Amino acid sequence: MSRRGSFRCQICGRKKHLRKNGTVVHHHVGGPQCPGAGYPPIEHDDARLVGYAGEIGAAYERAAAAVKRLEEDRANWIDPVLVARRRLLAAEVVKISRRVQRHLDWPERYRRSMALQMEKFGYVWSDPPPLYLVERAGEAKGAGEPLNAL
Ligand SMILES: [Zn+2]
Repeated sequence: MSRRGSFRCQICGRKKHLRKNGTVVHHHVGGPQCPGAGYPPIEHDDARLVGYAGEIGAAYERAAAAVKRLEEDRANWIDPVLVARRRLLAAEVVKISRRVQRHLDWPERYRRSMALQMEKFGYVWSDPPPLYLVERAGEAKGAGEPLNAL
């Protein structure tokens, strides 16, 4: 098992210490508290990442619908805060969906980089993906290609 302080937050991906109950400590990223604080690290679980991606997507849809409704009603004034919120949420949707994609790709990328690093250097320094993700990736692929190398 990894030593203390080498677990990654599900949302921001920064290495953080864990509390005694196995959740990531309180931390801030660029201002507000990181939404991954108080949840297990990505090595143990990814439910928070998936849930947060859904929450952000829904919040963006709501903000976009509110602005669109005002535009269609030809409102005299649209609160710039609402427009800014829509833009910020759109950026967050892109960021978090890339993060989810990168998380899901992890076993595949690890296998590729392991093959490359073993060939070039004879050893591997990448962090291996968490077991639950490897098992899930194996299920998704079916019995065709076992992940023996991991
Ligand atoms: Zn975080």
